[in-house]
Amino acid sequence: MSNVREQFGKPREGGGFTTFSLKEDASTIIRLLPPMKSLKEAGKWGEYHKQHFGYEVRNQRDPSKTMPRPFMCLEEQDENRLTTVSCPECRRMEEQAQALKDDLATMTEKHKASGIPAAVAEKKAAEACAERAKWVDGHRLDKKWYIPVMMEDGSFAIFRTPHAAFKAINKARKEMRDDNGGSDVFDIDAGAWLKITRTGTGLNTDYTATIVKEATVLANGKRATVVKPAPLSDEQLGQALALPDVKTSTQLIRRLTSDQVRVLAYGSGSPEEVEAVMNMAGRPDAPGPSPRPSPAQARPAPVAVVSQVQASVVEEEEDADEKAIREAQARMAAKKAAAASASASAKAAPSVKTKAILPLDDDIDEDEFAARFPRPSAS
Ligand SMILES: [Zn+2]
Repeated sequence: MSNVREQFGKPREGGGFTTFSLKEDASTIIRLLPPMKSLKEAGKWGEYHKQHFGYEVRNQRDPSKTMPRPFMCLEEQDENRLTTVSCPECRRMEEQAQALKDDLATMTEKHKASGIPAAVAEKKAAEACAERAKWVDGHRLDKKWYIPVMMEDGSFAIFRTPHAAFKAINKARKEMRDDNGGSDVFDIDAGAWLKITRTGTGLNTDYTATIVKEATVLANGKRATVVKPAPLSDEQLGQALALPDVKTSTQLIRRLTSDQVRVLAYGSGSPEEVEAVMNMAGRPDAPGPSPRPSPAQARPAPVAVVSQVQASVVEEEEDADEKAIREAQARMAAKKAAAASASASAKAAPSVKTKAILPLDDDIDEDEFAARFPRPSAS
């Protein structure tokens, strides 16, 4: 009788998975999962990935539109911050930013030398450099943590979030540990739920993480607030393992070879060209260089359709997000430049005001770097 039942399995929620990030002024309750899969040995509970934005392909549903096609940055550093693998797109971004700065300065000087007023000279130079400025503005490096979590409804997902949320989680973790010998939020049996909240906008975006607590009545009849239990059952752990490996999954982040990145970085950037490179890209089943596909026969990426759709939705949302931050940075830079130019003209010094170019990720802050190279001894 029961034998017949044993011959049936449960449909596995594999292939498709959800990646989510917090929108402005939103919060969510999550249960962090202990280090798993390829992160297990290193004891890491999330992976930090860098992605390049700036290339687009045609939207297959509406060919009049394009959609972003980010890909993983190839740059790698060792513990001493020495670059061990160089990324062609990173080099190209540096070259373009420098060339823009130089061109603006040279052209402004040239115009001024011919007797044109400074403001007009700057405007003319900016106009002449518009194309390169657009390139620089549209190419950027996005850095996020990818953290496997259980959602409040018991489903599993990948939380994609900036470093600020990673720091907030570590803070909450320490608070729980310090709190009367509390256990680790990651602990399979004694872990906790965390409420992650995103507040503010642009440069003032902040993240907080708090341990979820609940009211209870103690044995002595008194009321108390205690950490809400979040034990993970074997069944839940099994479901968690259906999530992709955040470190190695190609479903999560598009990976191109160095040659492919170089072709993109120094190519025309047209949607057709980007599409051709992407379709060639790192396909294990690719039958050699394929002919450039026409829009009608363009094939979808070789990964599960569900996750691909979900992933690209996230990419577009993230794009808007980062755009707001970039605009805030540009406003600040413009303000700074205006102030600098005002003080310079007050001194009547010949000044060449170039449009400040602020890369979105100009440096990695110390603890961000430390988080990428955790020392097992320092906990
Ligand atoms: Zn790069």
